[in-house]
Amino acid sequence: MKPRIHNQETVETLLAWGREQLERGSESPRLDAEILLGHALGLNRAAIYTDPGKPVTEPCSGNFMALIAARSSGQPVAQLTGRREFWSLSLKVSGDVLVPRPETELLVERTLAHLPESKPGCVLDLGTGSGAIAIAIATERGDCTITATDISRAALAIATENGNMLVPGRIDFVHSDWFDALIDMQFDLIVSNPPYVATGDDTDRATDFEPAEALFSGADGLNDLRRIIAASPAHLVPGGYLLLEHGLGQAESVCSLMKDAGFDAIRSHKDLAGIERVTEGRLG
Ligand code: SAM
Ligand code: GLN
Repeated sequence: MKPRIHNQETVETLLAWGREQLERGSESPRLDAEILLGHALGLNRAAIYTDPGKPVTEPCSGNFMALIAARSSGQPVAQLTGRREFWSLSLKVSGDVLVPRPETELLVERTLAHLPESKPGCVLDLGTGSGAIAIAIATERGDCTITATDISRAALAIATENGNMLVPGRIDFVHSDWFDALIDMQFDLIVSNPPYVATGDDTDRATDFEPAEALFSGADGLNDLRRIIAASPAHLVPGGYLLLEHGLGQAESVCSLMKDAGFDAIRSHKDLAGIERVTEGRLG
């Protein structure tokens, strides 16, 4: 329904309307409405509060209403604005990539913990999506050599664009089905946030709008984790690290798969929600 609070819509009336519309469709209606109104007006979030009584005319008001309708149907805010912040970097996103999740910053933190600044390493990011992990590492470790892969050419195009914008020339983007195009290549560290949602477990509506190949991985969600863990030892130097993101309840299986593949010093780490989200191991 269109807002009909005043004859002339203003920043304030549109914001209140948008927020009310999202009350049922979003966990953060106020924030979402602010971001989407800012996007429709070409302003940042803070600027929309500097002149709340300012009239908003077409096409801006109509664009905002369309954005609110799309958000109400479950489409992620990041897809509507085309951008998402990760590791304090503004990344381009589209329907071709997973919207980078805040919990993946834990994977970056753990990766950096194994990449001392004094000893530049050779890093592989498997399934790079928007390029989030590889780009975050590149900004923190100027001396690292970084390769990032994806099976999706559309995702690689977005990742390459983000890489060129934020860390030009730093990342080698490679089209590959996991390690298939990396024959004979070895790394000091392999990091991946692979698909790990169990097929059919699509209760999160946001996932309707993201590529299925970025999310789903067989009946128990572990198919890709199994493939990556089994193939990693051949692509790591002795003493090299494998760091993996996974979902709720998968840490035990991932630890045991890593142990079977010859890893030691295996540890899982909890995200801010208290869920074991990242498991790491060293090739013995
Ligand atoms: N690394 C990004 C992040 O953390 O935001 C994206 C992670 S997303 C969960 C998983 C990514 O793995 C997707 O970009 C998907 O296209 C890619 N992928 C899925 N299967 C793959 C495969 N067999 N080989 C390489 N990449 C794959
Ligand atoms: N954390 C994501 C979700 O629950 C899943 C990401 C993944 O499969 N790697 O939607």
